[in-house]
Amino acid sequence: MKIKAEYIWVDGTEPTHKLRSKTRVVTDVNDLPQWGFDGSSTNQAPGNNSECVLKPVFTCPDPIRGTPHILVLCEVFDAQGNPHSTNSRALLRETYERFKGEEPWFGIEQEYTMFRNSRPLGWPEGGYPAPQGPFYCGVGADEVFGRELVEAHLDACIAAGLDIYGINAEVMPGQWEFQIGTSSPLQCSDHLLIARYLLYRLGEQFNISVTLYPKPVHGDWNGAGAHTNFSTKSMREPGGIKVIEAAIQKLSKRHDHHIKHYGDGIEQRLTGLHETCNYREFKYGTADRGASIRIPLDVSKQGYGYFEDRRPCANIDPYVVTRLLIETCCS
Ligand code: ADP
Ligand code: MN
Ligand code: MN
Ligand code: MN
Repeated sequence: MKIKAEYIWVDGTEPTHKLRSKTRVVTDVNDLPQWGFDGSSTNQAPGNNSECVLKPVFTCPDPIRGTPHILVLCEVFDAQGNPHSTNSRALLRETYERFKGEEPWFGIEQEYTMFRNSRPLGWPEGGYPAPQGPFYCGVGADEVFGRELVEAHLDACIAAGLDIYGINAEVMPGQWEFQIGTSSPLQCSDHLLIARYLLYRLGEQFNISVTLYPKPVHGDWNGAGAHTNFSTKSMREPGGIKVIEAAIQKLSKRHDHHIKHYGDGIEQRLTGLHETCNYREFKYGTADRGASIRIPLDVSKQGYGYFEDRRPCANIDPYVVTRLLIETCCS
């Protein structure tokens, strides 16, 4: 049988890497070949030495093409067989290997904005919608826009077997969120990239383009984040709140380093307004949506669980953000 295998990888576009993909027709899903691509067209190699290598690392059913077709997430290697400089997954693999004993878990809330004809979905031509307020978790044709795509995407994530946790309409009209996790750093990140791929790909069918830019509309409109929820085994056990507080202390000392890797455009989003803490400041608190780090109310009450890093932007590289959180909090 001929199976369409969609090979997906992260490119070298600056300042924010993009997803790329191409199709290989295979006959055995248990024997997927390595493959090559023209790195000079993805900002990953010079034209006179353009070959890059794709190595499959994660596969799942392709819910858009249907059975027996598959999606194949790949890591990129250079011609010498070393992880490519854009291959942040390889670094996370190493870090995870070192700290596996801590059993780090992640859940990422991926916000995104839908556009059609260079306007956010549902926005009137040449103007603005009503001020923010009714749109978050809203219902009704005047409150939420793009539900057709959102529902198709949720179905696709479930059919692909991803760790999809939930979805909600966001504060700015045309903005939505899905959550991936709770799972290990590699699995959460792999699933997040596949979920992003499915969103872009389904968007083609609805003539909706999705952007992860952290401040798609300037002014009094919420930006788009990727709140990253994190715990280790000892945080999840009774008394774990002490471990959470110690981790937050360590995070406060490496704030600038994290901010630097939490998405291009972060200073436009983390202004101190719109449920954010200014990027120049580090604050934490229970149930505080104006903090850098939020301890959920339930966690504070029961004395163990996880915390939420609210700083990461929608356009993060999840392999980088999960690695930094592990390195800072577990070292
Ligand atoms: P919010 O209230 O910030 O909008 P959501 O309901 O959107 O939160 O998302 C909660 C996130 O927390 C999910 O991604 C879930 O996977 C994650 N999460 C729950 N428990 C844990 C845990 N113990 N460790 C890490 N992440 C967790
Ligand atoms: Mn959320
Ligand atoms: Mn949100
Ligand atoms: Mn959140």
